[in-house]
This record gives sequence, structure tokens and C-alpha cells, in this order.
Amino acid sequence: MSRTLEPGDHIYCKRVEGLYDHHGIYVGDYMVIHLQGKAKKSKPLPPCQKCGNKRVINGEIAKVCVDCFLDGENLKVYDYGVSFWEFTFRRSGTCSTRHSKPPYEVIRIATAFLHDEISASEYNFLFNNCEDFAVTCKTGNKGSVQVLSYLTAGAVCSAAAIVCPVTGLALAGHYVASKFLRR
Ligand SMILES: [Zn+2]
Repeated sequence: MSRTLEPGDHIYCKRVEGLYDHHGIYVGDYMVIHLQGKAKKSKPLPPCQKCGNKRVINGEIAKVCVDCFLDGENLKVYDYGVSFWEFTFRRSGTCSTRHSKPPYEVIRIATAFLHDEISASEYNFLFNNCEDFAVTCKTGNKGSVQVLSYLTAGAVCSAAAIVCPVTGLALAGHYVASKFLRR
């Protein structure tokens, strides 16, 4: 973890041997609000003694303790307001170029989702995953991660288009030279 954990932080950790990351909003008092996955545990677990979490993974928004959220993995903090270049070169799903709302506002949005106080129409509430949920709480709307990924991919493609003609010319030159030398 790069800095001290603070209420309103977007946190994440590995899941399933690092196959994907799980995201949530730290709301203080060692508690996290997150969008749970839908997968079922292979066997029922006893409720958490710290937060009472029944550990039922039902695809709903829930408030659990940090230990339940991490499930034994290391805690990381998702960064906001990073430069375009930092965003481009860092692993996807770890940061955003967009700026976070103030912590109290982030916690208010996460809590409102938890208590079903925000209607679907108000926030276009259709999250694809737990990262969407956390980004929405942090910025007020989702759509940043995927859109920015497309933009980044576009920028890389444009760069490749600039490089490719040069590479192509070099290859053509090499071909001509090799043909000439064979004679
Ligand atoms: Zn717990």
C-alpha cells in the first residue's frame, strides 16, 4: 500500500489467485461498502465475528469489515487524478485520470447505494462489476474505465500507425538489399 488508508478511499485486492481484482469503498471504522460477486462458496462459512457478515455472495451491495473484503489478500488503494501517461503505463484497473469527489461525498454515495436510496434512473445504475460500483461512488458516474481504456487503445493504435510505415520501409529496404546482394 502506497499511503495510509483513509475513509472515502477506493480500495482493491486480488481474488482467485490474481485472476481478477475486487473493488470497494473504505468508509471508515474498518468497514467497506462493495458490490459482491455472484459466485457461491464451495461450502457455507460461519458469520464473521467482526462485522456479522454472513459471507453469502449474492451479487448485492453490502457493508463488510476490511478482513472480509480482503479475504486474506493485500489491500491496495486505487489512485485518482493521475496523469494520462501514468494511466497509460500502469496496469488496468489500478487508477483513473478522473478526479475523486471529496471523501464525505464518496461515502455518502456508497451509503446511499447500500440503503437503496439512489434510484436506478438517477445514476443509470447498471454496474458491470465491482470496479464500476467503486468508480461511480468516487466520481459520481461510471463509464470512465472502459471509455478511457478505449481511448488509450486508440492512442496506442495511432502511435503504431506512425511507426509501422517506417518499419515497413525498413523491411522493404532490407528485402531489396538482400535481393541485390544475392545477384
Ligand atoms: Zn467481517
